Amino acid sequence: MGFTRIIGAVAAAGLALAAAACGELQASEAGAGNVTQERMLHADSDPDNWMAHGRTWSEDRFSPLAQINVDTIDRLRLAYTVEFDTNRGQEATPIVVDGIMYVSTAWSKVMALDAATGEQLWFYDPQVDGAKGAHACCDVVNRGVAVWKGRVFFGTIDGRLIALDAATGRELWDVVTVDQSKPYTITSAPRVVKGKVIIGNSGAEMGVRGYVSAYDAETGEQAWRFYTVPGNPADGPDGAASDAVFAQFATDTWAGEWWEMGGGGTVWDSIVYDAELDQLLVGVGNGSPWNHRARSDGEGDNLFLASILSLDPETGAYNWHYQLNPGETWDYTATQQMVLTDMEVEGESVPVVMQAPKNAFFYVIDRRDGSLISAEPYAMQNWAERIDLETGRPVEIAEARFADAPYLVTPSGIGAHAYHPMSYSPQTGLVYIPAMQPPSAYLDDTDYTRNIGRWNTGVIFLAPPEGLVPGDTPEARRAYLTSITKGELVAWDPVKQEARWSIERDFPWNGGTLATGGNLVFQGLPDGSFNAYDARDGEHLWSFNTDRGIVAGAVSYGVGGVQYVAIMAGYGGSMGMATEADWMRRPPPNGMLFVFRLDGEGRYDPLPPATPAPYATSDEVFDPATVALGQQAYLGFCTICHNGPVNPNLMRSAYATSPDAWKAVVMDGVLSDNGMISFAPWIDAEQSEAIRAYVLTEAARRAGQ
Ligand code: CA
Repeated sequence: MGFTRIIGAVAAAGLALAAAACGELQASEAGAGNVTQERMLHADSDPDNWMAHGRTWSEDRFSPLAQINVDTIDRLRLAYTVEFDTNRGQEATPIVVDGIMYVSTAWSKVMALDAATGEQLWFYDPQVDGAKGAHACCDVVNRGVAVWKGRVFFGTIDGRLIALDAATGRELWDVVTVDQSKPYTITSAPRVVKGKVIIGNSGAEMGVRGYVSAYDAETGEQAWRFYTVPGNPADGPDGAASDAVFAQFATDTWAGEWWEMGGGGTVWDSIVYDAELDQLLVGVGNGSPWNHRARSDGEGDNLFLASILSLDPETGAYNWHYQLNPGETWDYTATQQMVLTDMEVEGESVPVVMQAPKNAFFYVIDRRDGSLISAEPYAMQNWAERIDLETGRPVEIAEARFADAPYLVTPSGIGAHAYHPMSYSPQTGLVYIPAMQPPSAYLDDTDYTRNIGRWNTGVIFLAPPEGLVPGDTPEARRAYLTSITKGELVAWDPVKQEARWSIERDFPWNGGTLATGGNLVFQGLPDGSFNAYDARDGEHLWSFNTDRGIVAGAVSYGVGGVQYVAIMAGYGGSMGMATEADWMRRPPPNGMLFVFRLDGEGRYDPLPPATPAPYATSDEVFDPATVALGQQAYLGFCTICHNGPVNPNLMRSAYATSPDAWKAVVMDGVLSDNGMISFAPWIDAEQSEAIRAYVLTEAARRAGQ
């Protein structure tokens, strides 16, 4: 028992037995999910447990465990696997408390497992409507649960926050945290602080107003809410914790009729509790729409977009903010992971927060007041000359705002770093950043019209324009862009603000990192490999093929004196939906949890090599004007979800060869349960058919290459 895959529900009564069997009597005595304020404050000296999203409240994702180390790594073997019931992206950080693992999967499903064997203790499905998947910009992912005093909390893709009994999986409460008539989703992991569950939401690509809320962990009652962008002044105050600061100065940083598209500023990932200064740091996202001109007449800083906000955890009251990108216009965000540490600055030990946000600069910020200490680029960028340390503001390259002419901006909205967790090892003093180099040509969409509920950027992303991108033909320009699109594992010295070592990849997506006391860095990659490196110099030490693209970050924990390393494998997220590479041309297999230990005896049989589905072929001939119309609509509505392996590639879809079948899907919505809703609200029958014409034409072109 214990080394085979376990499928299906197991009676909750199994919990006590499982806990006893793995020698964790403490768990059954204290009750399952025994995470408290006191335990979290001392999590540093409790290395067997990974009790919160970033392990400790400083969220450094460093496990002090050292049984698996640079000398024993050769003995690292599979302990067990657990297969999920969905092949969508897996981004969760498993939480491990006293030998029990709590993990969420795509479509916001949650389960408890015996962390030593993988035996399922309970399973909970919140029954999200499949059509809601169409509101998820970047896949129906879930980044994890929070555990607190015998309860498991998580958000759902349809905007609910749910509390379960950690011992049984029984539902305790279920509250709706968003206006479900709007395109809000939740993909982030909640945090629990002082008995309050803190949760944000997503949807700025579709047009929503961002906020972060706190709910009482016992009752599910809302304690406070802080909006990150102002509402329509004509509607008056919100009756929220954010009212005061908007009245004082934040609303004045906006212009035009920003509220019509919500303004954006969603809190879609990073929230960290600073126990030392008793403050909540909240990462705020991009504007809605992206384009500053289309959003706010090109005027104003637009607070609190792309900002780190400090709030009072009890009341939600504003303390301070630091805005990374005033007048944000590229889909740059401050939602990336924040790590808390102390750093010596001019002879004084300063409490700092470190962040490697989308805009490619590594920020070290004094968390007492939000003042900037240092900022240097950790990845390629061409939007700013530097960040001014006096004002804390970037010195931008004017052309990067693409106001008068298109601009090939790096990084694009994909970001130089997104949700993939980074890690910080106090042993090496290095931050391990899954960095990216994704260029994209941005053009001001002067004819921008709002598509409520669909992508709204105010930016045109054409095939790489002539003159802007080297190459005489569209194919040559596309090939050039592909050649400079890269990923990189960067070991960053946050004091010197420079890379100690780095490893370049020829693909742009990346998995999260885990640093350990064994001087190891673990990282999974989109090619399905799970790898270990020497944290000191980047030497590649170990690898395991999971057959699934990896985007999540690993965790490490101990049960009964044995160290484990666990990783969620399952390709997805925004790049999983929007980019294709040769080695991933097949529908992804179901996601899987892979868990490793020294001398593990688990078995995994690798999948046979992928054989891509053939391109759709047809004898139909289309006129160039129709194809051009179809290309425009395809780029506006289809490519963001259908150009990667996660969802069907339309160029390889049999639906494209039948006008009737195509219409049934695109206009009539017969596949809405899968998330493919009817696009009739946004396109007409002529555009739908033109997209089909473009898809078949493009399929023939690609097949002929
Ligand atoms: Ca965004």
